[in-house]
Amino acid sequence: MVAKSEAAEHERLVLAAVDKFLEAEVRPHVHALEHDDVYPADIVEKMKERGLFGCIIAPEYGGLGLSTSTYAKIIERMSAVWMSISGIINSHLIMAMVVQRNGTDEQKAKFLPRFATGEVRGGIGLTEPDCGTDLQAIRTVARRAGNNDYVVNGRKTWISNGLHGNCLALLVKTDPNANPRHKGMSVLIAEKGPGFTVSRKLEKLGYKGIDTCELAFDDYKVPADCLVGGVEGRGLQQILNGLELGRINVAARGVGVAAAALKEAVAYSQVRKTFGKPICEHQAIQLKLGDMATRLEAARLLTYRAAEAYDRGERCDMEAGMAKLFATEAAMENSLEAMRIHGAYGYSKEFSIERLYRDAPLLIIGEGTNEMQRIIIAKQLIERNRV
Ligand SMILES: Cc1cc2nc3c(=O)[nH]c(=O)nc-3n(C[C@H](O)[C@H](O)[C@H](O)COP(=O)(O)OP(=O)(O)OC[C@H]3O[C@@H](n4cnc5c(N)ncnc54)[C@H](O)[C@@H]3O)c2cc1C
Repeated sequence: MVAKSEAAEHERLVLAAVDKFLEAEVRPHVHALEHDDVYPADIVEKMKERGLFGCIIAPEYGGLGLSTSTYAKIIERMSAVWMSISGIINSHLIMAMVVQRNGTDEQKAKFLPRFATGEVRGGIGLTEPDCGTDLQAIRTVARRAGNNDYVVNGRKTWISNGLHGNCLALLVKTDPNANPRHKGMSVLIAEKGPGFTVSRKLEKLGYKGIDTCELAFDDYKVPADCLVGGVEGRGLQQILNGLELGRINVAARGVGVAAAALKEAVAYSQVRKTFGKPICEHQAIQLKLGDMATRLEAARLLTYRAAEAYDRGERCDMEAGMAKLFATEAAMENSLEAMRIHGAYGYSKEFSIERLYRDAPLLIIGEGTNEMQRIIIAKQLIERNRV
């Protein structure tokens, strides 16, 4: 009981510090950085100082060792202020967790302390020009050259942190002819070097500021001891395990965006008047606010529940999938409803509603599309209820 209340108090202090940081160091700059699509280098430095790049990395490797539940609440808060900064640590931490959960002792000792400080930052390199959902169709190949290196050739696209980061958990084929295909897939910890180039920074609808890139690998050498876990053929599973955390991240982002949209709508509806009264007194607006608030609360509960299951070490692909599906659709719906409530001002670049409306669609695509989440949920439902 004491330990539980100590943990709750610790979480409260961490979240209060995050809120203070967001209000003082992030919110005042969001509008300019977003509209000029500028990488928030100063904010990243301050996130490093506060240990955010290592927030869920174990303390023995220099991280803060926070639970996934606390981490989800941090991401929710960040996304309510500016979703782009959550992406800078989200895919970095998926990379870190791939190493923490699957790496050899040497790999953990070599990489995790540098990931925790943010000295080495990056993300996950999975998607290619010809495939995203069907990851077993990737064509990037890593061939063993002697005892010391892999030589990588291929293309990746839509890679977050591709330009400003310097390392990736890179999904490759170490045996392109393997059957089943996943047995020929591996993950390399790939630090930038000769042959690893950023071919293009992609222009996006929203999620501005953060770099999303196309990458080229041409005879790029990776030391053989950077093969995650030291055994070939386990890469797809290592990445899929990481994506469970990724889905909780994205669900938390959805909660943040949905919450920000509701907050703006509740405030605006009390000051905007039509026909002699604030619009919040019109039933048509009340119906929207009621639905938005209920949707937000349901999304939040699903997300916290999935994070708690992950913290207990339980299999939670169904829970994470449900949270991701529901919370990201909630972000879509709440941002659209907030725009309707704001009328023309919702469409203005001077207010934040249009940003929330542009940010939300990424969430229904990234970390597994919402179509795929429904399929994952249904498969698990059947698996857990076999007759
Ligand atoms: C801003 C942004 C950042 C990203 N960051 C990263 C990153 O850091 N690293 C990375 O590796 N990737 C990243 N991605 C890529 C993202 O993960 C993929 O876009 C996503 O997995 C979907 O793949 P796809 O775009 O190739 O769509 P496709 O796989 O081509 O799917 C197209 C459509 O077909 C549907 N579909 C596909 N297969 C099935 C099926 N079996 N049954 C039913 N429907 C199906 C999908 O749901 C979708 O509606 C990012 C994308 C964006 C937009």
